[in-house]
Amino acid sequence: MRYISTRGEAPALGFEDVLLTGLATDGGLYVPESLPHFSVEEIRSWRGLPYAELAYKVMYPFVEDAIPADDFRKMLGETYSVFSHQAVAPLVQLDTNEWVMELFRGPTLAFKDFALQLLGRLLDYVLEKRKQHVVIMGATSGDTGSAAIEGCRRCEHVDIFILHPYQRVSEVQRRQMTTVQGDNIHNIAVKGNFDDCQRMVKESFGNQSFLSGKTQLAAVNSINWARIMAQIVYYFQASLALGGPDRSMAFSVPTGNFGDIFAGYLAKKMGLPISQLVIATNRNDILHRFMSGNKYEQHQLEHTLSPSMDIMVSSNFERLLFDLHGRDGAAVKDLLERAAKGPVSIEDYRWKHARKLFDSDAVDDKTTCDTIRDIYEKNEYLLDPHTAIGVRAARNCRRDSTVPMITLGTAHPAKFPDAIAESGLVVKPQLPAHMADLFEREERYTVLDNNVSEVQGFIAKHWKNA
Ligand SMILES: *Cc1c(COP(=O)(O)O)cnc(C)c1O
Repeated sequence: MRYISTRGEAPALGFEDVLLTGLATDGGLYVPESLPHFSVEEIRSWRGLPYAELAYKVMYPFVEDAIPADDFRKMLGETYSVFSHQAVAPLVQLDTNEWVMELFRGPTLAFKDFALQLLGRLLDYVLEKRKQHVVIMGATSGDTGSAAIEGCRRCEHVDIFILHPYQRVSEVQRRQMTTVQGDNIHNIAVKGNFDDCQRMVKESFGNQSFLSGKTQLAAVNSINWARIMAQIVYYFQASLALGGPDRSMAFSVPTGNFGDIFAGYLAKKMGLPISQLVIATNRNDILHRFMSGNKYEQHQLEHTLSPSMDIMVSSNFERLLFDLHGRDGAAVKDLLERAAKGPVSIEDYRWKHARKLFDSDAVDDKTTCDTIRDIYEKNEYLLDPHTAIGVRAARNCRRDSTVPMITLGTAHPAKFPDAIAESGLVVKPQLPAHMADLFEREERYTVLDNNVSEVQGFIAKHWKNA
């Protein structure tokens, strides 16, 4: 399978190169040139498969040129065996025809484990074959950093440096990054904010001379195609568990960078009957404003109780815009260049086409807390603030009560105790047993000044073969 850029100018690449590349050279994002399509009969025949085996069926067409089937199967078996639930992505019922899919049973308690546990193994496999080494450099305000570190801890050919803003991430989130032991794991606390961290990462990707040509940087943020690919699987899993593909499903997805929900859109295009996708945002609602009024416009960043969805622009949305524009890269390039300067709209018929599948809602902090409390009082079930936004949006946007509505449960409530406390509940979310000693584990991180050459100097000195 070949991958092409959403801006139409970068060369097409195979899977291995897409895995090792962040942005395309024309500034676009890579997408498959064409998607595999599965018939209803074929999907039906997957009923009852263990998660890792289903993952193989759904994903193999994307990687078949690069990885032999047995190797990929083995990798998937290892990836999903570290989850703390046999079903990997279990469903919990909230009400008649209303469900939460728990995607937080991985090692760092957020859905990002589904992709990053696999990504680490894919990288190591490809790098071993090519006799190459990479340095992963990333900035995090929370969930991505810990999932990436956990996913790369056993990689032979990868060193990982994660920058987080010093004293500005929650203690659970910091400890999930800094207590992972491994010679190839490096946590840097930058005396600055998240934007400073992100700026340094961007600058370093732009000019990698500090590595003296001995290794190269790789990205693990959600623009990496392999992350999207791994997220397609659980839409199939949920559907098959609830009577699909012989009936269609609706999904509500707590959304930031549009990665997780884009995977749902792809699942539908690959043949899974999905009749509705709900984009659930917090007050950082650029996607909700677009879906409700066909206006795409950046606003100031707001800090909310659901920090993993605090974004100004939604990078993966470009992948949907590419399809909405008939895969015309030049049109996407023009639109996004204009969007960087001010508000933009797309042609009405294109927007209406998107609205056939997508609905959206924006949920503020107070309503998030009300939802956490309401569900706890009625079901004795504790939602994290991101999932609560999904549940609220699902209820507000529901089109047909006979269609199962599944909200993606993106994080474990123990990751966000502040939101639970703010909702007025006295119950305290408990960390799962395998993490109960998190607060006793030894931490390792280095505090550096908000200065890019200091950070680059640290990386140049500390990667494995430096
Ligand atoms: C990353 C994250 C999201 C947003 O996912 P996108 O793919 O960026 O839309 C939602 N909830 C949680 C808990 C996350 O960590």
